[in-house]
Amino acid sequence: MARTNDAAPILVSGGGIGGLAAAYTLALQGLPVRVFEQSPEFREVGAGIQLGPNIFRVLEKIGLKDAILADAHRPPAQEMRNALTGKLITRIPLGDVFFKRFGQPYGVTHRADIHGTFLKACQDSNLITLENSRRVDSYEERDDGVTVVLDDGERVNGRALIGCDGMWSQVRERIVGDGKPRVSGHIAYRAVLKREDVPQDLWRPDVVLWAGPRTHFVHYPLRRGELYNLVAVFHSDRYEEGWNAEGSTELLWEHFKGQRPEVLRMLERIETWRMWVLCDREPVKNWSSGRVTLLGDAAHPMLQYLAQGACMATEDAVVLAEKVAVLPNDLPAAFQAYTQDRYLRTARVQIMARVYGDFYHARGVTAELRDLALAGRTPEQSYEGIAWLYGGP
Ligand SMILES: Cc1cc2nc3c(=O)[nH]c(=O)nc-3n(C[C@H](O)[C@H](O)[C@H](O)COP(=O)(O)OP(=O)(O)OC[C@H]3O[C@@H](n4cnc5c(N)ncnc54)[C@H](O)[C@@H]3O)c2cc1C
Repeated sequence: MARTNDAAPILVSGGGIGGLAAAYTLALQGLPVRVFEQSPEFREVGAGIQLGPNIFRVLEKIGLKDAILADAHRPPAQEMRNALTGKLITRIPLGDVFFKRFGQPYGVTHRADIHGTFLKACQDSNLITLENSRRVDSYEERDDGVTVVLDDGERVNGRALIGCDGMWSQVRERIVGDGKPRVSGHIAYRAVLKREDVPQDLWRPDVVLWAGPRTHFVHYPLRRGELYNLVAVFHSDRYEEGWNAEGSTELLWEHFKGQRPEVLRMLERIETWRMWVLCDREPVKNWSSGRVTLLGDAAHPMLQYLAQGACMATEDAVVLAEKVAVLPNDLPAAFQAYTQDRYLRTARVQIMARVYGDFYHARGVTAELRDLALAGRTPEQSYEGIAWLYGGP
């Protein structure tokens, strides 16, 4: 049987934000890494993402904070408004007081920009090999290494395998075996406008969330304010699965009719929406087995209501590399230590994201109660409520 020596690379399946972050943090520890991405290019689809102070804390550790902030927009506040009455429910300042409280900023960025920063960092490392159009079909594990089998039949030996292959992870199926993700019944439509295409009186520097019955609509600027991100979410059981498909505009109007003109005028600007059927999974206590582990959406896929999936994947990558640095000659033990460090924090985000979703989409008396409860909060109370997340990892 082939033996794998310590100079063999760590293999990564998937080159999304999680896979590239893992490759980069492991290379910083001096380890060679090979990343296999099934798509013909290393590229992010989709639109904007929000970045909490917790991701900037770990990005600072790995030297990428400034590069990611350079492309981002720093919103002065997060606002929640009632989509039927237009009333301001709560406004959470994200400026100096927020920075003082968490020691890091809040940012919003284009997914292509954050992914592009990780990609460039990986390309600049002579320890990382990036390979496109290469799908990991299966793997075999031995005491001293892992062999992955690619879609063209090639077998590649490595010291270990990290499954960063997203929500429908094949590597997870072997380790956790919990089948398909849970379809939430919520659908997200996303689009990006140029700043000049946003009606002038509707352009806002803040992250604004319009909470409606079984819907919400979020908008914020991207890329230093040059672009504008729109996300409309509604409940529907019409789709079982779907990822970055074109969304039907009629279905959107059915769900948003009767909402404030500010919402409808903004939705009208979009001709083509991309649609995501939102899924997650139940949290698990362990996602490592021997020399194989998971990271990002493969490990703990979550609904997007806390805006944390990419933040959690990046935290994972930094913690994983720290554990490997402590136990470089015992990767199975390092992977166990990584999982034990991460599972409760990520489980809390998975669970709380569902709760936030219900809160945003509340109807009738529940919505009235939500508005009352939030209106009474000071910014400091809002910060306190989210300190478990933004204060970590
Ligand atoms: C509507 C929406 C809004 C969101 N908003 C935010 C936000 O504001 N903030 C935030 O932090 N997060 C947000 N997220 C979540 C975030 O986008 C994800 O959590 C994050 O991108 C996950 O990264 P990943 O690398 O783990 O997985 P993915 O991005 O899914 O990457 C997986 C990669 O693996 C590749 N792959 C899959 N199988 C194989 C295989 N067998 N072999 C080789 N390659 C393979 C895929 O092609 C893909 O490139 C949002 C998500 C959605 C849907």
